[in-house]
Amino acid sequence: MSDELADCVASARALVAELVEEGVEGFEKWSDDRVAAMVAPPLTDDAATPHSRQPAAAEAPLASPQTVAPVAAAAGATSPARTVTLEQVREELGECTRCRLCEGRDKIVFGDGNPDAALMFIGEGPGQDEDRSGLPFVGRAGELLTRMIEGGLKIPRSDVYICNIVKCRPPKNRDPRPDEVSACQPFLDGQIDAVQPKAIVTLGRPATSLLLGRDVSITRMRGTWQSYRGIPVMPTFHPAYVLRQYTTENRRSVWEDLKAALARSQQ
Ligand code: URA
Repeated sequence: MSDELADCVASARALVAELVEEGVEGFEKWSDDRVAAMVAPPLTDDAATPHSRQPAAAEAPLASPQTVAPVAAAAGATSPARTVTLEQVREELGECTRCRLCEGRDKIVFGDGNPDAALMFIGEGPGQDEDRSGLPFVGRAGELLTRMIEGGLKIPRSDVYICNIVKCRPPKNRDPRPDEVSACQPFLDGQIDAVQPKAIVTLGRPATSLLLGRDVSITRMRGTWQSYRGIPVMPTFHPAYVLRQYTTENRRSVWEDLKAALARSQQ
């Protein structure tokens, strides 16, 4: 079997496993018109397509102006000194009801890992497994991320710090909305201030767009150094996307990005 065919088979298998895990039991047969209508709207995660989605003029950018919560204000925007701890940020978050995501959540998924980590990973938002366990990246995408960290980078997962741009699961795993991301951003900023990583890896378009302050194409942005509040940021594909498009090229791209980020974090 050629590499390309093997990649296709692996992607198809991964997709079926993902659908089964999400409880999909079958497919309804759609008319051609209905399929055309579904295909027409742009996908929200442009990693899934080579054509990047530009936001409509009236659409709020992912990173909209923030209402800075006390914890983020206390941390200071650019201070190199650690002025806040993860415990303080978590306490400030409390049993959060700042946005509608609180309505459907089981557990708040704050973050996990070394509070002094040199390398920080930022994903999009908890899925079902994370919502149940209260820990980030413990489902299938999380297993792949863990394999990339432990098997690829050869460091224990507990050495890095992992969190998301929103701390509560969006219903049906939809993309978090701008107001939800805004409500949570002070806490992400607080986590960054508390951990003070030497390098950050953003996983997928929403996390990358948030830190860069504009809607970006992850396909174009991955593998290029960016910066957030003076910290080097390496955007890469989200592991869920890699599972869906399990190609040698995508895996190699993420591997290159992670190696670069680890090296930077060790300088
Ligand atoms: N996807 C994310 O972006 N974050 C998680 O914690 C799990 C899956």
